[in-house]
Amino acid sequence: MTTTPLALVTGGNRGIGYATARQLAARGMTVLVGARDADRGAAAVAALRDGGADARPLPLEVTDPVSVAAAAEQVEREHGRLDVLVNNAGIVRADGMARPSETTLTTIREVFETNVFAVVTVTNAFLPLLLRAPAGRIVNVSSEVGSITAMTDPESSVWPLTSVPYPSSKAALNMVTAMYAKELRDTAVRVNAANPGYCATDFNGHSGYRTAEQGAEVSVRLATLPADGPTGQLWGHLAADDSYGVLPW
Ligand code: NDP
Repeated sequence: MTTTPLALVTGGNRGIGYATARQLAARGMTVLVGARDADRGAAAVAALRDGGADARPLPLEVTDPVSVAAAAEQVEREHGRLDVLVNNAGIVRADGMARPSETTLTTIREVFETNVFAVVTVTNAFLPLLLRAPAGRIVNVSSEVGSITAMTDPESSVWPLTSVPYPSSKAALNMVTAMYAKELRDTAVRVNAANPGYCATDFNGHSGYRTAEQGAEVSVRLATLPADGPTGQLWGHLAADDSYGVLPW
């Protein structure tokens, strides 16, 4: 059993997830690095521990209910509770950049499996443990491209995007976030979505203008909200001036 706050970051072995794990550990948390590949998970944990973090590997393929159930059972057995869940694992597909009229359902389903359905599977599996924590926090890593308000605003930086799978998956994730927040409103659990901004990771061939560390700061803020902090909102850096605040859904 850990006495320090316990956090789980899905897809914590690289990119924004790795940076989130590093920053949460730097704030004194024990961090479970969720990774679907044991070697990649072990390498990330070794690097985090080299930096002084209390990081531990947790095998977790988020689209596999058996893997998710096994991970939740392991956390229950070893820790009995979970303070922070960061649903960070996410994918984009190159052919998901087609126009709506050219989109295949295969791509939409594949992206939704990870970015939406898996978040529900993982959240439901770990919710009993989050409810046992004094102040459970759920952070769903979303995106400004999931904002229907931004996507329909010709003045927005996301306006030129035309693809269906990834933006619609993040829009669905936003609604998933809002619904969990509503259900859990009278509990100590706060549920919010994070927009990390356009970060240079493998995800986009390192073309982003923010660093993974900068993107992770949004998830870390939402993971460490005070008891009277917000719930059911999308937070991040506004593209216009990079200021931090609530973004429109
Ligand atoms: P990366 O591609 O760098 O990393 C993705 C991580 O998710 C990897 O650890 C990967 O594991 C893991 N992952 C993917 N699918 C699964 C799965 N089925 N089971 C378990 N783990 C999985 O992406 P980023 O760090 O850039 O993105 C992290 C999150 O931030 C995503 O949700 C993304 O949508 C979001 N985001 C990113 C932005 C950006 O500009 N980078 C902008 C806005 C949002 P593995 O190493 O095994 O592949």
